[in-house]
Parts: sequence; structure tokens; C-alpha cells
Amino acid sequence: MTLVQMTTAVSTGRTIVSVEGVSKEFAVRGGEPLRVLDNINLQLREGEIVALLGKSGSGKSTLLRTIAGLIPPSDGIVRYRDEPLTGSNPGTAVVFQSFALLPWLTVQENVELGLRARGLDPDVRRRRAERVIDLIGLDGFANAYPKELSGGMRQRVGFARALVLEPEALLMDEPFSALDVLTAENLRTELTSLWGSEDFPTRSICLVTHNIEEAVLLADRVVVLGANPGRIKAELTIGLPRPRDRRSAGFQALVD
Ligand code: ADP
Ligand code: MG
Repeated sequence: MTLVQMTTAVSTGRTIVSVEGVSKEFAVRGGEPLRVLDNINLQLREGEIVALLGKSGSGKSTLLRTIAGLIPPSDGIVRYRDEPLTGSNPGTAVVFQSFALLPWLTVQENVELGLRARGLDPDVRRRRAERVIDLIGLDGFANAYPKELSGGMRQRVGFARALVLEPEALLMDEPFSALDVLTAENLRTELTSLWGSEDFPTRSICLVTHNIEEAVLLADRVVVLGANPGRIKAELTIGLPRPRDRRSAGFQALVD
């Protein structure tokens, strides 16, 4: 049985985000511009988890930020539900590697921040934040400050802050790589069981990682980015049902 195969036509889900011919160059003082992304084409579809795998410096974060509309491409377009982006992508939310919490705000306030920016009513904000705080295993910590929390709990706040925005596509930039192995494993397992539950607001995940095992365990499709310039080197479909762990995935079967 072939468990890993080259992608042909895979997910039948509708496209949420579409990256079309995207290139990105950064200006370099006194030198040629640095071409970090070169003609990238990529779709995030309903119901799938896509891992963006690549070495450090291959442009993974740049691509994720471009998808989120945090930086504009030098060439090409990013669409959300067929509409070209004009600024930040309204269908996405980002979980960062370094958590990016505001230290002077409580957990609850950090989680509510993005809703405040959307002009939601204080009552609605509070209810939505409380729900996500429970969902992500932070109950009892709503009034704590980030410095009082462990790394794993801080990243849970990072997840809550993204999920409260109810993004159709959740973008995660190496969300587990600042955590110790066991904490990372726990969070990964929880995320996999949340996915597909009715409470989980998101329909597609794009996970940036340099960890091939993580990519194979979590994703349905693995897109490999190569550097200089950043191009898609390979795209693999993981033909295994979710959720998987090392035992049930039968890692041996992947290499047989
Ligand atoms: P990865 O996330 O795969 O490690 P990045 O997307 O962070 O890669 O970076 C890819 C390349 O682009 C690196 O060489 C990095 O130094 C460069 N780069 C990223 N952001 C900027 C920026 N704002 N200005 C100039 N160069 C940048
Ligand atoms: Mg990065």
C-alpha cells in the first residue's frame, strides 16, 4: 500500500485561500534584492491540514505572513474566497512561534484584543473569549498574566487569541517549537482532537514546521519549500486517516 504519494487531485473541499504566482523580494542595502519566494502556487481547502515544511531560511514565515496579508507580495496575488487581499486576510488568524502575547494584559484581555479591534460589544467579546479559554484548557487562568504561565500555557493563550477570531483558516508558524518535547506533544494531541469537533471554529489549518515527523503526524498534505529562491520542491499527500500518533500511524509503514 502506498501511504505517501505525489499529489494529484486531492481534497474536494472548496478553496478558502489561494496563493497565485506569489513572489517576494526584500531590499538589501547596496546589493541585489533577496528573492525569498519565487512563483508560489498553493491552495488551502476546506477540511484539510497543510504543513509547510522547510529548512530555516527557506521562506516559510514569509509565505505564512503573505497568506495572512501581513506583508504584501512583490508579485502575484493571494485570494480569500476568490477576493484578492487588500490588507490583512479576514479569513485567517495566526499563531506565532514566540507566542507574541502582551505582557501587561491578562489572559482574558490578550484573547479579547482582536475582537476589540473588530468593534464587538464588550459582552459579546467577554463571552466569546471565555468560551475559547475553556475550549483550549485555560479555565481558571483568565485573570493571570503571561509571566505567571508556563510556555505551554502561554502558547495556549496564543491559540485562544487566534481561535476567538473564528478564522476559516488557522495559520500556525512553528507553534510547538519553543516548547519542551512533552508539552509540545500534549498540545499537538489536543489540537488533533479539537479539530473536527463542533466547537472548533476553523475549517483549514496551515502549519509551518521544520519538523518532518510533526508534518506527517498532523497534516493531510505536506508542501516542501526549498531555499534560494523559495520554491515548492515537493508536495505529498499523506494517505492516512486522522487523528494519528506514532503508534497508530504505523511510521514503519511510511518507509516500507
Ligand atoms: P523561515 O521561516 O523558513 O526560516 P523566513 O521567511 O523567516 O524563513 O526568511 C526567509 C529569508 O528572508 C531569510 O533569509 C530572512 O533573512 C529573509 N527575510 C525575512 N524577513 C525579512 C525582512 N523583513 N527583510 C529582509 N529580509 C527578510
Ligand atoms: Mg520562520
